[in-house]
Amino acid sequence: MVLKLVLASRNRGKLEELKALLDGRGYEVIPLDSFEGLPEIPETGTTFQENAVIKAREAARMTNNICLADDSGLEVDFLHGAPGVYSSRFAGPDKDDLANNKKLLELLEGVPWELRTARFKCVVAVASPNGYVETVEGVCEGSIGFEPKGNHGFGYDPIFIVAGQGCTMAELDPVTKNLISHRAKAFNRAVPILEAFKKEPASGVSSKGQVLPPAVYKKVII
Ligand code: IMP
Repeated sequence: MVLKLVLASRNRGKLEELKALLDGRGYEVIPLDSFEGLPEIPETGTTFQENAVIKAREAARMTNNICLADDSGLEVDFLHGAPGVYSSRFAGPDKDDLANNKKLLELLEGVPWELRTARFKCVVAVASPNGYVETVEGVCEGSIGFEPKGNHGFGYDPIFIVAGQGCTMAELDPVTKNLISHRAKAFNRAVPILEAFKKEPASGVSSKGQVLPPAVYKKVII
């Protein structure tokens, strides 16, 4: 059987990444914007997990399909985990990646290398229309450099020096990034959850209308 899977994101890069990962495994991956007239889903959570769950659950309810959503960002230890869920709007609501990177470098001015540790984090939530949801996490460790380097990627990639790589994320070619990134790890960890949904295709409810046991849907949260 082919399982229809809606990706609750308008980001084409993520869509292609997920499609490539699930290629040949029996999934039809559909972007949320292929459903007309759906409202924006406000990201009101204070953690990556809360935001991923809100998006996946709401998209599953609105489209009546199994939905996958992710939320990600950068955590800097010296800043007690900031920018975290505010990664995209760190320098302000109308600011861009350049402004975010500039602000972060300014906040870390004079901070020595050993205190510049950071990580990219990604939480993926998979939800069914009846409200069941399960989450997995992927992490990519590194440090914040002293100046931007590299032209690939987006966001904080030019100032994020990847642990064990000796260069910034923006200096890695996209294929390598997709092998080691927080998102790739989280997407990979979501595959067994999707496989469990595929075995019970009726959106979390058995063919007799019963809610499926927690054996399939282990982590039912909020
Ligand atoms: P989102 O979860 O895709 O909306 O990402 C939120 C923000 O986190 C982005 O706007 C970036 O600032 C940052 N971010 C997430 N993933 C990455 C990445 O792979 N590289 C660089 N920045 C990222």
